[in-house]
Amino acid sequence: MRTIPHYINGVTVSAPGELPVFNPATGDITGRLPLPSTTVVDEVVAAARAAWLTWRQSSLSQRTNVLFALRHLLVQHTDELAALITSEHGKTIADAKGEIARGLENVEYACGVTEHLKGSFSSQVADGVDVHSFRESLGVVAAITPFNFPIMVPLWMTASALATGNAVILKPSERDPSVSVRLGELLTEAGLPAGVFNVLQGNAATVNQLLEHEGVDAVSFVGSTPVARHVYNVATEHGKRVQALGGAKNHMVVLADADLDIAADAAINAGYGAAGERCMAISVVVAVGDIADELVAKIAERADRLIVGPGDDPTSDFGPVITDEHRQRVLSYVTSPDPGITVVRDGSALSERTGFFIGPCLLDGVAPGMRAYDDEIFGPVLSVTRVATYADAVALINANPYGNGTAIFTRDGNAARLFSRQVSVGMIGVNVPIPVPVSSYSFGGWKNSLFGHSHIYGPEGITFYSRAKVVTTRWPLASESQIDLGFPRTR
Ligand code: NAD
Repeated sequence: MRTIPHYINGVTVSAPGELPVFNPATGDITGRLPLPSTTVVDEVVAAARAAWLTWRQSSLSQRTNVLFALRHLLVQHTDELAALITSEHGKTIADAKGEIARGLENVEYACGVTEHLKGSFSSQVADGVDVHSFRESLGVVAAITPFNFPIMVPLWMTASALATGNAVILKPSERDPSVSVRLGELLTEAGLPAGVFNVLQGNAATVNQLLEHEGVDAVSFVGSTPVARHVYNVATEHGKRVQALGGAKNHMVVLADADLDIAADAAINAGYGAAGERCMAISVVVAVGDIADELVAKIAERADRLIVGPGDDPTSDFGPVITDEHRQRVLSYVTSPDPGITVVRDGSALSERTGFFIGPCLLDGVAPGMRAYDDEIFGPVLSVTRVATYADAVALINANPYGNGTAIFTRDGNAARLFSRQVSVGMIGVNVPIPVPVSSYSFGGWKNSLFGHSHIYGPEGITFYSRAKVVTTRWPLASESQIDLGFPRTR
């Protein structure tokens, strides 16, 4: 059994393993994770601060060179990284490669940092006076990430944070921590100086030490809503810049004019892909009008064809969920449903296997006030909610406390346009069930899906990880010497 190391100051640092790391497809413990002492937390922060003092002065071309080299290495090592992700997360190899590809986009965006960090210049704002602006790094960024995208979410944060001249301490999920260490090694191979990127393994206590540490300047967090709220509150109280992305309950509205086969395909892909463990997964299909019976039948028939198995078996459509505890929680929505729910498909029989498997589950008649609607289930459980009108669908979405993603399936362009303007949600798909923005736009939800105002990666990522300076300049002639106690005027 392996002990998973930290990655500090450009080298792996071993420590006695404590927390178990599982292979979810077998249920075996495959590694143990160290829990750092306060001394180790202080050491990693000190290493990051020292490295930042040099990295903040690095030229933009030096940073771009490192990011280009990282891009190349991520492509070169995709098979190895995907296998590592699958062994600890459980998702299929194809899905792990998809995650790497989406993370790679953020590295490519960050390669354009010379363009993204351009300041502005105004000549002659007053007589003989010019103004220019530029942005500088913040310092040490703590990047705290969830289990469900063990390399993509770290890359969402790391690419922009490094490009803007910060040092990073990544605290990955304790469930699938190994790929972060490989990311550290690849960054070193790409030419990043020691200490600029570090991986600190650990759990909630480790996170809390980082949130309160005076050597940490900013916190990027992605995870569940209660933890996101806690991270935002504690870190802002300690004077840090914070963005904290939380959980989700994403609705897919199907209008009566939609192609129901296309809508059913989309519900299957977005509901069961990665065993439903995506923050942009569709968890509620909202059937509008009298299409519900037909739509439910089409989804059920497709669900019956899905193959659930180990992520490294190329025939598997999706793999196990992350832990046995999570499997039990997810199954409780299906084995003890609220009154009024019809269990159309029950995937609990698969829980006889040794790994943490759940088959596709389909619940009909789900409504607000029921556990299956109110909770983020985060498993292969798709709910169907029936509403009479388009207006009811919008009201349902807007009354939900989450606002991460949503989608509408229709052939009516005007309805789609209205929908995108009327929903209180950050990311919207029109006939696109998982509308994760490309890297030149930023990712972020509304309401309980994001604490702080800054979305992550893309233009808002560059802004979040940097701060502005404005310089007002005058080169007076000696003959212009004068004393004037008035407030500076431009005219
Ligand atoms: P989680 O909140 O349990 O853990 C996330 C991180 O927080 C981990 O690094 C963990 O060690 C740490 N943590 C856990 N409990 C803590 C506590 N009490 N105090 C301080 N730190 C703590 O989330 P998870 O189960 O790893 O990931 C799944 C969740 O993440 C889902 O809710 C999902 O919707 C969400 N998510 C959101 C997005 C998004 O972009 N909005 C993306 C991916 C995942």
